[in-house]
Amino acid sequence: MYESIYARQKQFYQSGKSRDIKFRIDALKQLKRGIKYYENELAEAMLADFNKQQPDTYMTEIGIVYAEINHAVKHLEEWAGTKKVKTPITHIGSKSVIYKEPYGVTLIIAPWNYPFNLTISPLIGAISAGNTAVLKPSEHTPMVAEVITRIMERIFPSEYIYAAEGGIETNQALLRLPFDYIFYTGSSHVGKIVMKKAAENLIPVTLELGGKSPAIVTENADLKLAAKRIVWAKFSNAGQTCVAPDFVYAEESIKNALLTHLKHYTRKFYHEDFRHGRYMSIVNDNHFDRIRGLIEGDVVYGGRTDAGNRTIEPAIIDNVEFDHPAMKEEIFGPVLPVLSYGSLDKAILDLRDMQDPLALYVFSENESEIETVIRDVPFGGGAVNDAMFHLATPYLPFGGRGNSGMGKYHGKYSFDTFTHEKSILKQTTLFDMPFRYPDAKIFRKLI
Ligand code: NAD
Repeated sequence: MYESIYARQKQFYQSGKSRDIKFRIDALKQLKRGIKYYENELAEAMLADFNKQQPDTYMTEIGIVYAEINHAVKHLEEWAGTKKVKTPITHIGSKSVIYKEPYGVTLIIAPWNYPFNLTISPLIGAISAGNTAVLKPSEHTPMVAEVITRIMERIFPSEYIYAAEGGIETNQALLRLPFDYIFYTGSSHVGKIVMKKAAENLIPVTLELGGKSPAIVTENADLKLAAKRIVWAKFSNAGQTCVAPDFVYAEESIKNALLTHLKHYTRKFYHEDFRHGRYMSIVNDNHFDRIRGLIEGDVVYGGRTDAGNRTIEPAIIDNVEFDHPAMKEEIFGPVLPVLSYGSLDKAILDLRDMQDPLALYVFSENESEIETVIRDVPFGGGAVNDAMFHLATPYLPFGGRGNSGMGKYHGKYSFDTFTHEKSILKQTTLFDMPFRYPDAKIFRKLI
């Protein structure tokens, strides 16, 4: 079945229709209209899949996608135009031009944690660049996957954009096809499987993976503001965010003061929601059991669980060391371990011993220590005196490195990701420089 979708998409791509700039802009506008039409169904699906409340759905799934569409529509002509670049003196008489060429038929595999946003944001890049696309939304948020399918079926022919619902088997079947590009968001474990399959056909990939993103809080930080922003970024979406601060690494002299603020804001922001069943659920029982098992040791706030609703109250754990169970894997849930360090140099060495995280946050008012952390710790991207917010701007490329992924997207970077840059040298025929040919006198003399 997917073979036939793939073949029809190939044919459609080769017809050149998806490459027309007006077609792309119309498709983006159509996408926005389609989403608008299904906004209520999407909100209901989010509630049904994991109790995601409507304001959160609007802010982190729908609004952010509208902003990406608007940005792409506004800049597409400029991005897609050919680009003239310099030509060296050795190539005198010629011109150098970069043509922007779509890859062709692309595959977009999405995770469940922001099931709509992380399926549609890459699609905006694929459409902008002139590709066709097969979407594979996550099977763990089935109601959202169904609404995505309905939107795509309503607004696009399947030879252009197609949503393939299903689980691992669907993915495996798709990964056997010779797509021209694969954009994968999910765990590092599955990222390796995707890359291996892609290697069989030498398919270029973007891998948007995860990792343990630290929030470093130095003695020079505004502790109250740091705590407020960390709490928001950590416990939104019940901690199921790829760039959530995974753990806090605080200078030891300010740790207790920081903890007081962390507890204060966690209570302020989430206590009532948890009590009244408005706090987001963990996506499934496996993850619920896994995260529950990480709440161990000196739990200084929260940590109550409700298996019926699969909810875990935001939990803060003090006095955590690197051998704690919560430090062995990406937490991906509402559990915040707090570790402390004696010197920033030592903290940097500890972080360099870990796998490169997708994000890192440093809270400090001291420029020199901020720059030291940014320079000396490898990570995907991040923020100074904030957390998570860096992903909501189309002007910053978003992506990981090492274990947290490869490639980048958002804004123009999404367009670039789905575009092959075809370099062309346009040579003059008005004259012909003799030096490069074997009969050039200069070579004859050297022999
Ligand atoms: P996952 O890797 O389990 O699933 C992602 C997709 O892969 C799903 O569509 C699933 O059907 C498919 N899949 C699962 N197992 C497979 C297999 N054996 N073979 C082929 N395909 C398979 O990831 P997830 O649990 O949905 O997402 C959580 C992870 O994603 C976390 O590690 C998180 O940090 C990461 N993440 C990264 C970003 C980012 O932008 N970098 C964003 C969100 C999530």
